[in-house]
Amino acid sequence: MAGANRRQVGARNIADNTPKLKWLAIFTRETSRAKLNAHRPRSPNIMIVLTPPRPVLEIADALEDAGYEAWCVGGAIRDALLGHPDLDWDLATSATPVQVREVFGSRRTIPVGIDFGTVGVLDRAGTMHEVTTFRRDVRTDGRHAEVEFGVSLNDDLARRDFTINAIAYSPRRNEVRDPFDGRGDLARKLVRAVGDADARMREDRLRALRAIRFAARFGFTIDPPTYAAIEASAPFLRRLSPERVKQELDKTLEQVRCPSSAFMIWQSTGAFGALVPALGQVAPDALRVCDYLALPGPATRPARRAIRFAGLLLSLGAKAAEDVLLSLRASRHETQAVATLIDRWQSHGPTIADALVSGGSIANVDVRRWVAVIGRLQVGPFMRLATAVWHAARNSGVSAPPAGAARSLYRRMLRVAFHDPIDLAALAVDGDDLRRAGVLPGPGLGKILQALLAAVLEDPDRNTTEWLLREAKRLHAQHAS
Ligand code: ATP
Ligand code: MG
Repeated sequence: MAGANRRQVGARNIADNTPKLKWLAIFTRETSRAKLNAHRPRSPNIMIVLTPPRPVLEIADALEDAGYEAWCVGGAIRDALLGHPDLDWDLATSATPVQVREVFGSRRTIPVGIDFGTVGVLDRAGTMHEVTTFRRDVRTDGRHAEVEFGVSLNDDLARRDFTINAIAYSPRRNEVRDPFDGRGDLARKLVRAVGDADARMREDRLRALRAIRFAARFGFTIDPPTYAAIEASAPFLRRLSPERVKQELDKTLEQVRCPSSAFMIWQSTGAFGALVPALGQVAPDALRVCDYLALPGPATRPARRAIRFAGLLLSLGAKAAEDVLLSLRASRHETQAVATLIDRWQSHGPTIADALVSGGSIANVDVRRWVAVIGRLQVGPFMRLATAVWHAARNSGVSAPPAGAARSLYRRMLRVAFHDPIDLAALAVDGDDLRRAGVLPGPGLGKILQALLAAVLEDPDRNTTEWLLREAKRLHAQHAS
């Protein structure tokens, strides 16, 4: 639910025994909010005041006006209480999916997951918000669940995975429902399964990976019984679909600032051993490389995530990294981007590092040759990866190029990439020109073009039609004799 006009949320701690939660203030359009809030009771027992964005309030109000309960649930409440501003507000309701569609009409609703009770409701700006009927899992096989509607909010909260994800807030009643002390666990910085941890992991093995992600993302510990249940889950994780596993890795790389804290747990619990055996035994230093790669932002997500994947899989080499991504059903585009980056790193990373560490001046011709191999558009990702590898190495006491040297090389590479002729397309002649000059078509012509590019990389002033045709004829004659 990307909300273009979504506002931040406010959470206020007004009780002594609640966590020290951040007070996030966002008050735009106070007048309309005052109107919306006018019929909400003010109870002295309310422990936390949350402020969902206006479109969510309007949807909740419409459901309540029609006689149904509407509660904000899950990740948004947890994140709001932690003071995280980027929020995805989901609603849970006593209305069935059919009733939700009746309240909002078919033009404003999308049956996004009707079998599981989820209806997408469009707000006035056309942004979709998920509204899910209170439900209970009646049958599960570790991968799929069969759900039953017509249950209470408390039943719905009980089927949620962790206590910190099982807190609900009703804007109409201004009431928090927190039957498993999720707020206490937020304060204790604890990821704890709702109910019996073993049973909950058996119902859905993905929860093991979700627990690890939440712990790493928020810097929480995993409650010992929950941790033991994750370890016990490891042999069964292979039953998860590769797509769900890939999505967990994606979210880990997208949400967790230092993903190695998650990957160390993937390793120690046996999750890597089961799901990505190639990473089962790699050294901690190798897992730490992605900690030095920037967290992807909304606009840079796929590209930055690919670089983080390259950081994670770097120690395996290009071929094994490609195999891992194929086994996880990554897109062809992402697989290729990651494998190519690792391949370029393997072929040129050590040479570039040696040149920078030696401290001598680096010739322009070397920079041009490196950029030619790396590729004009790959200079950015390559140098981000290089900088991360070197930073990680320095932090573990291994000699590596200093940050300043890497930065100035990056600037030189960018200049070269966008000013100098570094690929065949930038040469002042092409195959047709060579054919007209008498070079016979075939593999020989391709070799001559490559030789011309090498000559131009050595000295860009040679990139004139006259010089290149003369050189081509000379090479052709040499070849023919
Ligand atoms: P994020 O979106 O940041 O990954 P989230 O907690 O919002 O975190 P979602 O996958 O969006 O996670 O799910 C929303 C809510 O649905 C969760 O907070 C949790 O209450 C519930 N939930 C999601 N996945 C599961 C699961 N596998 N088992 C039980 N409850 C789940
Ligand atoms: Mg979410």
